[in-house]
Amino acid sequence: MIRVMCPACDHYGPPHRPTLDASRCASCGFELLPTLEPGDLDRPQLTRCRFCGHDEMYIQKDFPHWLGLSILLGAVLASFVTYSYHLIAWTWAILLGSAAIDGLLYYFVGNVTLCYRCLSQHRGYPPNPEHQPFELGTFEKYRQERLRRRQQILAEETHSR
Ligand SMILES: [Zn+2]
Ligand SMILES: [Zn+2]
Repeated sequence: MIRVMCPACDHYGPPHRPTLDASRCASCGFELLPTLEPGDLDRPQLTRCRFCGHDEMYIQKDFPHWLGLSILLGAVLASFVTYSYHLIAWTWAILLGSAAIDGLLYYFVGNVTLCYRCLSQHRGYPPNPEHQPFELGTFEKYRQERLRRRQQILAEETHSR
């Protein structure tokens, strides 16, 4: 299943099976046209983005970043409190407990693979060892490209009015 991000407004569409047909952004009405080659949809393994056909993708854990951070932050704050009351055993329990929860979450949540170019999210595909974790340099390169594309889209819209 994939979720496609609208290049005009950054809205993520609902999860759906990859297709070669165009659809419209539910938020702004922009036409989302997949640029795949027909054979791309038949491969079980994810080698290329199932929306734009690009082959640079990254993997990340499929849980929101803020959740992991809040668990960590909450544990640190709670351990300050227990530490200041000299409850050393509690301090250790909180710190180790939160690490365990983090570890469990990490173990149980699945991966999501994102396309660097169009940021489409791909879920439920067999893992591809070629795909690396997020890399800021590569991301930044494509972010610039997306910004240019956005300007192009906006310029075309004002022309057509
Ligand atoms: Zn949109
Ligand atoms: Zn893509």
